[in-house]
Amino acid sequence: MIDGTGAPARPHQDLLIRGGKIAALGPTGALGQAPDSVIDAAGLFAIPGLIDAHTHLGNAPWEQRAATLKGAIMGGVTSVLTLADDARSNGDLQRAVVAGQIQGPRVYYVALFGGPAFFSDPRVLDASRGYAPGTAPWMQSVGEGTNFAEAVTLARGTGAMGVKLYAALDSVTVARATAEAHRQGIKVIAHSAVFPGKPGDLVAAGVDMLAHTPYLVWQGSSRSDNFLVRANGDFLGVPANSPAIENLLAMMKQRGTALNPTFWVFERGAPDSLLNVRTPWMYAVTRRANELGIRIVAGTDGLYNPRTDSLPTLHHELEVMVEHGGLTPLQAITSATLNGAWACGADATSGSLVVGKDADLLLLTADPSADIRNTRAIRHVVQGGRVIR
Ligand SMILES: [Zn+2]
Repeated sequence: MIDGTGAPARPHQDLLIRGGKIAALGPTGALGQAPDSVIDAAGLFAIPGLIDAHTHLGNAPWEQRAATLKGAIMGGVTSVLTLADDARSNGDLQRAVVAGQIQGPRVYYVALFGGPAFFSDPRVLDASRGYAPGTAPWMQSVGEGTNFAEAVTLARGTGAMGVKLYAALDSVTVARATAEAHRQGIKVIAHSAVFPGKPGDLVAAGVDMLAHTPYLVWQGSSRSDNFLVRANGDFLGVPANSPAIENLLAMMKQRGTALNPTFWVFERGAPDSLLNVRTPWMYAVTRRANELGIRIVAGTDGLYNPRTDSLPTLHHELEVMVEHGGLTPLQAITSATLNGAWACGADATSGSLVVGKDADLLLLTADPSADIRNTRAIRHVVQGGRVIR
């Protein structure tokens, strides 16, 4: 049993599930209770259910999204954090999963804040149909004149577990939004570069997590006026080991800011000339972040695409974490379980195999602490104590 906390694997364990929660744990035979039904997991390896803490469920027709969620959970992803979509759609999927109408990961989602300049983006318009751009409670245009007590209250009313700071935001707005969100007890997740705010402005404001390692490059670059160029930073001029990046990472460690690298999405979708510098840069910066003890949270920005991989993208992300990101297999598992639950604001009730938490777990036929690729070797997926068929 690998519990997701980073503790070493424990051999020969029994796990008792009752009411969807982990009721007891202990060495084989020690629990002394006769459960109603038993899964014989002899020879198998238990890990917590995987959490993809950076997805977008979008607005495709219902059947299509339900099919994606079903594929995701069959492939071991028992929770997802969707970082800005239409909250009406996200809430509907969240409810359908909880109600048992569809099979899929538990759905957590954010409300998005951006500056006025962002609200011509077609993705925003698609995610807030029926509202004038920037006025939907889950997709708000914010700035100098914003009453954040009201803005955050509206965001919470959508069922969001946090806010996402996305683009066209300055350091003052970032600080005000973050302080108010924390005052109201919800998380703040930010794109690493929100332009004109720099990554360091976000860290100084106290955001909980920065998404996308490559955008950290903007800490050392003066060109920070246009959010559309964010993926194409000066990776040669601001090397991974430059003082700007080293200082930023030190500040993240000090402030407890987590990093959500999203390797998969940055390994593609750009010309080779960019990939050849950006890919090694993001690997090196993530390695350094992990060395410093910064909390790494696994997310893909691409949940599941059966045309390219029969299993959810997160398995690939974990392989890259270990192969290039400097994480041990146990650290990678934590990044996609307990740390994912933390990013969802759900670590008190989910994300590790601990008494009292949700009984979300995978039974694998091979040891993922020996080889991270073994997260693919799924025999059973259990969510809320139920075996997913
Ligand atoms: Zn994203």
